[in-house]
Amino acid sequence: MSEEEEDIDDEPTEVDDEVAKKVITKKVVKTGMKTDENVLECSLKGVKVKMSSNTPHKRVYYKKNYCLYCEKPFGKVTRHLMRKHQDEVDIAKALAHKQGSTMCSFLLSKIRNKGKYIHNCSVKSARQGQMVPKRQTTYLLSATDFLPCYFCLAMYIRTDLWRHQRRCKLRPDGPVKRKVQTYCSFLLPMDHPVSDGLKKILEDMTYDAVTRRVKSNQLILSLGERMFLKNGEVGCHRADMRNKMRELTRLVLVARDLDKDTVFLKDLITPAKFNTVLAAVKKMTGFDHLTNRFAVPSTALKLRHSPMKV
Ligand SMILES: [Zn+2]
Ligand SMILES: [Zn+2]
Repeated sequence: MSEEEEDIDDEPTEVDDEVAKKVITKKVVKTGMKTDENVLECSLKGVKVKMSSNTPHKRVYYKKNYCLYCEKPFGKVTRHLMRKHQDEVDIAKALAHKQGSTMCSFLLSKIRNKGKYIHNCSVKSARQGQMVPKRQTTYLLSATDFLPCYFCLAMYIRTDLWRHQRRCKLRPDGPVKRKVQTYCSFLLPMDHPVSDGLKKILEDMTYDAVTRRVKSNQLILSLGERMFLKNGEVGCHRADMRNKMRELTRLVLVARDLDKDTVFLKDLITPAKFNTVLAAVKKMTGFDHLTNRFAVPSTALKLRHSPMKV
């Protein structure tokens, strides 16, 4: 593959960018949720995503790629791989095909993606640095807006992932996963490791701000593990477990609106925060002060039991 081809392959297409931007904006308006920027996990505030350097009049062919073997950034990583790492098994396999052929480009692209994926994982673990997506956007997005494809490991805008997976060159035959965003989110390192059993339950959640908070909240995950040990193998209890974890997370999000000191559930499990919890439960369940009634009494009742278990 020529160096120019490598860069063109990685450059963003304006059409895709515009579509993805519209989808994200539409979703935010539809659900009435805050933008990811506002509910961005505290742990990812130090993580940036590389943007395109294009200007309105000029297209800039520059993109950082990371070498899989020496983990350093290169503008022309394919050239670097072929010159410095030709003894590696995967590079040798790619170079065994005719240079410039589809198979050679395909195998080299797989190695490039893997290099960027390792770099992006280490940025997420360190909670600091710059992630490199497959397609750079011309507008600012947060790190939580990107997820890796589980076939090729390239990072895409999460709302664009389903569209990519339909045409991903590394996709084997057969159906793709449901809840693709949640499934792919487990390819990135988690703040708190979970058992395989709980992971399967979390994978069935819709990937939204609440699910992202569930994954980063140790106390809620611990409650999930406990519930899984008790009833995890029984199918009918799985939805109940997911609901309990999501309810508690929503409680933390509402409490955070009322009290900025609240970040995790553990911040609420203290007598000093009793009134904050009470106010958050009332807000969540639509408590009417005139009639002294809850709009959703069942949630209010569940939110009495769950924090006590925690
Ligand atoms: Zn290298
Ligand atoms: Zn892919």
